Amino acid sequence: MSERIKELSQEYFRSGTLAGLPSQLFIAGQWQDAENGDVLDVYDPSSASVFTRVSAASESDVGRAVSAANQAFHNVWKVMKPSLRGRILAKAADLLEQQAERFAVVEALDSGKPLAEAEGDVASSIATLRYYAGCADKIQGDSFPLGQDAFSFSSLEPVGVTAHIIPWNFPLATTLRGVAPALAAGCTAVVKPAEQTPLTALMLAEVFQEAGLPDGVYNVVNGTGVAAGAPLVSDPSVRHVTFTGSVNTGVSVMQAAANNITSVTLELGGKSPIVALADCDLEKTAEGVLWAIFYNAGQICSAGSRLVVERSVHGALVEKIVEKVAALKPEHALHNPNYGAINSAQQLDKIDGFVSRAKTRGIKIACGGTRCLSSEGQGWFYAPTIMDEVPLDDELVQEEIFGPVLSVQVVDSVEEAIEAANCTRFALAAGIYTQNITHALRLSQGIDAGQITVNDYWAGGIEVPFGGNKMSGIGREKGLEALRSYCCTKAVTMAF
Ligand code: NAD
Repeated sequence: MSERIKELSQEYFRSGTLAGLPSQLFIAGQWQDAENGDVLDVYDPSSASVFTRVSAASESDVGRAVSAANQAFHNVWKVMKPSLRGRILAKAADLLEQQAERFAVVEALDSGKPLAEAEGDVASSIATLRYYAGCADKIQGDSFPLGQDAFSFSSLEPVGVTAHIIPWNFPLATTLRGVAPALAAGCTAVVKPAEQTPLTALMLAEVFQEAGLPDGVYNVVNGTGVAAGAPLVSDPSVRHVTFTGSVNTGVSVMQAAANNITSVTLELGGKSPIVALADCDLEKTAEGVLWAIFYNAGQICSAGSRLVVERSVHGALVEKIVEKVAALKPEHALHNPNYGAINSAQQLDKIDGFVSRAKTRGIKIACGGTRCLSSEGQGWFYAPTIMDEVPLDDELVQEEIFGPVLSVQVVDSVEEAIEAANCTRFALAAGIYTQNITHALRLSQGIDAGQITVNDYWAGGIEVPFGGNKMSGIGREKGLEALRSYCCTKAVTMAF
């Protein structure tokens, strides 16, 4: 732990908060209270206590933010030389890096995730900014062959104001995953962070301002989904909505956007399978499955929440994972444990509801299955849980729990594994553990998912497109593909 992180942790444990946290809305380059004076409590999930408050926007604040973003789009950002836009984003990446420790501490406090995980999120956010900073002056059109008497070419133009609706599980990383390519393409942004985790999106406003981002290009309207999110996605001046959250909210966001023929990227839920074949490396697979489901206490859309395992290794693999689970210890996020908190009391109740109902149905529990507390007797924690031999039609297999609960499905062949992997309405991610390349290719062809990894569940990076099929979403973030959401093609044809 660095000296800076020690200082910030000591300050928090001494005073119950941190000095200098943002507490207002950020609109048109100005810090402002919400017009109606509403505020939201911000909780530290590791101790289940309020540690700060922020303004809560309503429709009029959102309207001002969209209007500021619209003006900044037309007057400043769209017309700025793309290489200069890239330089500002690169500068923001450098400044974020200088403040990485403070961002990580605040993210850990706000979300409940262990400090090391929050540091990982900040590092990946810096990488995202750098990646898209480099893209700003490489967004190119094409030319089209019409013969000798005409010339036709296209340019990729920014769509305009973009809205970004963020969930609570990766607050900073999800914000930048949408905002960085949008700004690189020449769009402006209005961000609505999750009501539970508004702080790092607000701190990012300070970073952007110091980097020289013009006023109105990046705006943040904290608030609830109903009071701030719904008016944002319904505003006709918003030309693209990037939404990350639950399926139900995604449906209403898409409906609201449809009224204005606004395009959407939807990153929704998942119930991602990890297929472990009989020939897998058991130790590597057990370690992979452990972190696929228990990283961020399972609160990851692409968590590996189902283990689809061949019968001959089922017992041995589950036993190995259970052994590893014994080493996971819930503690306050700033003590940097290897196992973090659940973000809210409501989410904890939701997880417990799934497991309690499964108990009444007689589903076998290999480990966990209860709420728990840190060694200080505090916080919203749920024991890492493995539910064994779950039938295919059970809600533990079919529904997203969004918590530390692994459902094990046992199969007898590669073909049956594909069928089991594809048995839900989701199709976000999948992992494959096998030492047989033919099986790996057969499975990756047969499984419906936006991203598939082989022998390392979390392999990938900002370079690799990310998104889901079926009810898991529409469109792709990350990689060069993400830039397409923020551009429209203009074709110009000249006859002569
Ligand atoms: P949620 O849908 O309740 O909320 C997500 C965001 O939408 C929040 O900012 C919320 O305030 C806002 N919102 C709520 N109602 C709205 C409305 N009517 N209009 C506009 N905005 C509204 O989801 P959550 O509980 O915060 O997050 C958990 C869910 O997010 C899980 O289902 C998870 O799978 C999903 N998720 C998906 C990804 C992905 O990349 N696919 C990533 C993270 C989370």
